[in-house]
Amino acid sequence: MKVLVVNSGSSSIKYRLFDMTDESLLAKGLVERIGISGSLITHYPTGKDIMKKEIDIPDHRRGIELVVDALLNNNHGVIKDISEISAVGHRVVHGGEKYSGSVLINQDIMETLNKYIELAPLHNPPNILGIKVCQELLPDTPQVGVFDTAFHQTIPEKAYLYGLPYHYYEKYGVRKYGFHGTSHKYVAIKAAEMLGKELEELKVITCHLGNGSSLTAVKNGKSIDTSLGFGTISGVIMGTRCGDVDPAVIPFLMKKEGLNSEEMNNILYKKSGFIGLSEGISSDKRDLEEKASKGDKKAKRALDVLHYGLKKYIGAYTAVMNGLDVLVFTAGIGENSPKLRKNVCADLTCFGIEIDDNKNNNAKGSKTVISTDNSKVKVMVIPTNEELMIARDTMEICSKLK
Ligand code: AMP
Repeated sequence: MKVLVVNSGSSSIKYRLFDMTDESLLAKGLVERIGISGSLITHYPTGKDIMKKEIDIPDHRRGIELVVDALLNNNHGVIKDISEISAVGHRVVHGGEKYSGSVLINQDIMETLNKYIELAPLHNPPNILGIKVCQELLPDTPQVGVFDTAFHQTIPEKAYLYGLPYHYYEKYGVRKYGFHGTSHKYVAIKAAEMLGKELEELKVITCHLGNGSSLTAVKNGKSIDTSLGFGTISGVIMGTRCGDVDPAVIPFLMKKEGLNSEEMNNILYKKSGFIGLSEGISSDKRDLEEKASKGDKKAKRALDVLHYGLKKYIGAYTAVMNGLDVLVFTAGIGENSPKLRKNVCADLTCFGIEIDDNKNNNAKGSKTVISTDNSKVKVMVIPTNEELMIARDTMEICSKLK
């Protein structure tokens, strides 16, 4: 069974084709700059030459057509006929309170996804568009939605409610939803596999640290708390997002600077975090690390705030789980920055966390344990693979059809 995984963003489409008989990757690629000048598709077929094509891509329909063409291409293709694609799995950011797992897309589900646009105005519309286009181009192929929020639907009420008037939850669904769920779930499962234990018997903290970042407390296989919430800005600081801020600051700044809600939102999502604290140096962690290593104080302060925030969440989640067995680092920063892992894990011996510098410095590109043999908590680096998780869910749902 071959499964196409589609992650449709506002101006890009990421895709992967898996052969689920052995979970091997047949091809992956990226359609970029949809609807703007300089649009292109880059296609990476396993074992064949890369294909890069600069071509006018006015909309998502053209983008998906090009993906299908690339998969069928005489020289760079990996399938002979479109019917070889048994199912399509779509990343969908927001599944609200309705979806605690992945679903086979039908008309009712499309209507619910449309309803959730107000909860994820930037993400759900291009996700929905990707589904619609695939339904048009592959009308006989089942489509499955896999939600970033689904894994967090087990978070208990005491953790997902904010201390706001309750009717805002009832009227507008204002609560913590959490994101990156597919990644948190994937690395938690992998961590248990690496230990040779059942995930259901472990207390795990997963740190997904990339351009967007979140930490999740996974107790007995279930997400019980996570650091992103209603929107995608709470928790630790990110590339351009602010992380936790006292809400009193927001009306204060709006008044002082004469900002409307859209302008304020723009500051919180686009001008804060690394870029804001470093006064414009970069939203990229690599640039900050490089500058900080040369003594740049602005870069250092942004990194200090990140490391401090991570420590605080690790402590808090250890407390709510009454213990910790495994700490996992994943995503762009988590997988690639030994400096960050060292800084965050320093002085956490009170929790039984102790990392081995040598193992930490050499953990690159594959799943590795980086804690010392004496460390009570196993600390791991596990590359995330959200696409494979989406393909697995898609296969599971579609294999039950007929
Ligand atoms: P992602 O969103 O998962 O692609 O992660 C992007 C983030 O990972 C950016 O902030 C990058 O700077 C960071 N990153 C990637 N490689 C490295 C590296 N070698 N060292 C530090 N940060 C890295």
